[in-house]
Amino acid sequence: MKGFAKMVWDFAEALKKHGNDGFKHVTVTDYTVRMSTCVNCEHFTKTQSCGLCGCHMPVKARWRTTQCADNPPKWLATNGSKRKEGADTDPSD
Ligand code: SF4
Repeated sequence: MKGFAKMVWDFAEALKKHGNDGFKHVTVTDYTVRMSTCVNCEHFTKTQSCGLCGCHMPVKARWRTTQCADNPPKWLATNGSKRKEGADTDPSD
């Protein structure tokens, strides 16, 4: 697990990218695939956080700009995605 200051810094950077992307969310399908991957990952914790980046994944997995913290990543950012906008419903709706 990262140090707290590094975790806060990385979260701020991720939030900035999310803002630059217009705070857009992934589709329900992409969100489901991401969360299913996290839930079955050895780094997923009982508090639903990622043991590598420290982020709360039910929130961060919604952001298009977010990528899995593992190396290699188990899922990728979807901004500039191949999917059509509105092809699915936003998971926050
Ligand atoms: S972000 Fe990646 S490493 Fe972290 S819990 Fe999800 S799948 Fe695992």
